[in-house]
Amino acid sequence: MNILIKMRVCVLVGLLSLSSFSYAQNRETAQLIMEDLCSDEFSGRGYINKGDSLAAAYISDKFSEMGLSKIGASYNLPFQLDVNTILKSVISFGDKPLKPGYDYLVSPGSPTIKGTYKVFYVSPRLLASPKVAKKVKKAIKKGYLPVISVYDGKNELVANNVANIKKCNEGSMLVFLKKNLTWSVATKQDKAAEIWLLESAFSPYEPEISVDVEAELIKNYQSQNVLGFVPGTTHPDSFIIFCGHYDHLGKMGEAIFYGANDNASGIAILIDMASYFKNNPQQYSIAFIAFGGEEAGLLGSLNYVKGPAISLAKTKFVFNMDLMGSGEKGATIVNGSVFKDDFDNLVKINTENDYLPAVYSRGKAANSDHYFFTEAGIPSFFIYLMGAYSHYHVPADNMDNLQLGPYYDKSFLLIRDFIILLNE
Ligand SMILES: [Zn+2]
Repeated sequence: MNILIKMRVCVLVGLLSLSSFSYAQNRETAQLIMEDLCSDEFSGRGYINKGDSLAAAYISDKFSEMGLSKIGASYNLPFQLDVNTILKSVISFGDKPLKPGYDYLVSPGSPTIKGTYKVFYVSPRLLASPKVAKKVKKAIKKGYLPVISVYDGKNELVANNVANIKKCNEGSMLVFLKKNLTWSVATKQDKAAEIWLLESAFSPYEPEISVDVEAELIKNYQSQNVLGFVPGTTHPDSFIIFCGHYDHLGKMGEAIFYGANDNASGIAILIDMASYFKNNPQQYSIAFIAFGGEEAGLLGSLNYVKGPAISLAKTKFVFNMDLMGSGEKGATIVNGSVFKDDFDNLVKINTENDYLPAVYSRGKAANSDHYFFTEAGIPSFFIYLMGAYSHYHVPADNMDNLQLGPYYDKSFLLIRDFIILLNE
């Protein structure tokens, strides 16, 4: 913990001790929490420099300062995962270095690869030719690096050709040109490396490309979920769960994926909710779980549901929050059409209080940590806010680009009122 963070903790404690509950101040506190979680020190809350574990420790410190109750001796619920890490990533065209995370990405499952290659450009026209796989194979043998143009995956012929190119490429590398870049986390290491290069950063006349990528597959990496709760006043054995994932993509070489909207915003509102309900306990117990491993395939919540700290039979409702940084275009509720009565209640609260411009309903989706709870038969919502903010799984999802606004307060109130109604 650096000095800046310590100072912020003091500010936070000061704000929480005020008895009147002022939303503008809470928004400021939430913004500071996000700035902490998105600082370089947390390395994008991934698996390089133990960024995820530092973030988990930060959250458990917050739970402790608030005086949340624990299940067992610690807020931490450990689990393990395999994860591929990209330790180094230096790529240049001739002597022009490319900016990692902005000009290009190394596919998350890439192995270590190093070399200097002449470029073999696979144009859209060549990509549609039945001979393309053969030609690419020949080029690879001669030491060329194939650079595949942007293509339409829905075109069956082209998609087949790409699949064939990938087959002849095991143990080597391909470059794919992309219109947009979106990174993720891999739990395995692939045989071949892929570079995803922004189309605008490429010229087919580049003479050479130098690649220096170092990858390490870490087996049984120890991560953790963080759980604290506020005991219920009349039914302490029954729980409502708030959750959100604290992990993000971590680092790709020097590039940090900060995950401001995804999902420092969800953790900020989770901590904010915890402080509210600590001061305003409800009939049922309310638990707050910050999940790890979400970006690696919902692994923290999967592990939790497989061996729950709170009996699933005693879990009345799960409210998952992920991507909570905007809101000027309203909110979407995944499972809204599955748990219709609950959704109608949420919409009624929203309309009566004029909180968000719109609340949309979706069906089931395996897109965040509510999913395995739903599959286990527990009523659950996943809320995400919508707006102009567009940075997703790129380094630009950072605090230079994200400022919480009045929709933070309104979505907080909407969710709070809904949970209070569940307790009636
Ligand atoms: Zn997320």
